[in-house]
Amino acid sequence: MPGSKCLDRYLPAKCLVQMMMNYKSQYAAIALFSGGLDSLLVIKWMQKSGYIVYPVYFLTPYMPIERALESAAANNIDLIVRDISKEHMEMMQDPQIVFGKHMNPCIDCHALMFKMAGDMLEELGAHYLVSGEVVGQRPMSQRKDAMNRVGKLSGYRDLLVRPLSQKLLRDTKPILENWVDKADMLDISGRGRYRQLALAQELGIKNFPAPAGGCLLTDRNYSLRLKDLMQHKQTDLLNMELLKYGRHFRLSHSCKLIIGRDESENRKMEDLHAGTYVKALDIAGPLGILSGKCDDPDVHKLALDIFWYYHPKAPAEGKTVITTDGDSAEHNCFKADLETIKKHRLSFD
Ligand code: SF4
Repeated sequence: MPGSKCLDRYLPAKCLVQMMMNYKSQYAAIALFSGGLDSLLVIKWMQKSGYIVYPVYFLTPYMPIERALESAAANNIDLIVRDISKEHMEMMQDPQIVFGKHMNPCIDCHALMFKMAGDMLEELGAHYLVSGEVVGQRPMSQRKDAMNRVGKLSGYRDLLVRPLSQKLLRDTKPILENWVDKADMLDISGRGRYRQLALAQELGIKNFPAPAGGCLLTDRNYSLRLKDLMQHKQTDLLNMELLKYGRHFRLSHSCKLIIGRDESENRKMEDLHAGTYVKALDIAGPLGILSGKCDDPDVHKLALDIFWYYHPKAPAEGKTVITTDGDSAEHNCFKADLETIKKHRLSFD
């Protein structure tokens, strides 16, 4: 039963026997879980309809996992978490990729997630894949033709089931071979959320996040910073993590400055152990991080002058402390002007 030990990823024989007694089908699905309402609905709907479902969350640098963990915990879902950051970032470098309005390659991203889930089928003893996609809900990735393309690109097209819309879609192997009863599938389509909200109520789903705001690749400022990192070939995991915090400045081909916007960002940036930190001497202020090779004297001076600009109450001239791997040195600095800030800041605002 859902939530029982038989949902463990390694199934002992006695669990398999129990499953065949308790479930409608002996065939199990891996469900792609994002934390959003549609993926919650699919898991709960399939479980309620008597199917074995293993919810999997794919970790990337662009989706805050907290959102998914909260909504899984609130809805009693046991999540399997897999880190696909490396594969996702490799995919982002592919020149064939089709981006959405910002740096969101939704079709390729869905396809990659289906591929990674498909590659886990044998490991989990599962047979097919389900997701919360709804026909016509998103202009880029959830048109019928785009959903077909996702299936094709993933290499698992014939094992995909989209339970919220499957009655409107081509039958795939799990339906044709009666692993899944088509009568259990739904026919939701379009951008409206009325039917999903009614279903959520029926299934007792609570605490689901708002539809927008999950993926950083749909944020224009984040996308600008990511594009800059890609152009400068600096998409290592530390730089990707740093993209989530602070104000970012491109100072040279190899050097970036990041300045925390509040106490919580300062703390998170410090915890990343990013290498070279900048702080003001004797006065309170933000934390700065110098990322990349910043030893050119002009670039170094520029970094400190920009850093000093973000100490509005400080005099025009001041002193900073730069710490690299435990070694600290004091440097003079002079407040940069607004033109310099605008020239180097990676932001539309
Ligand atoms: S919104 Fe982000 S996570 Fe979702 S499919 Fe698009 S790129 Fe992937």
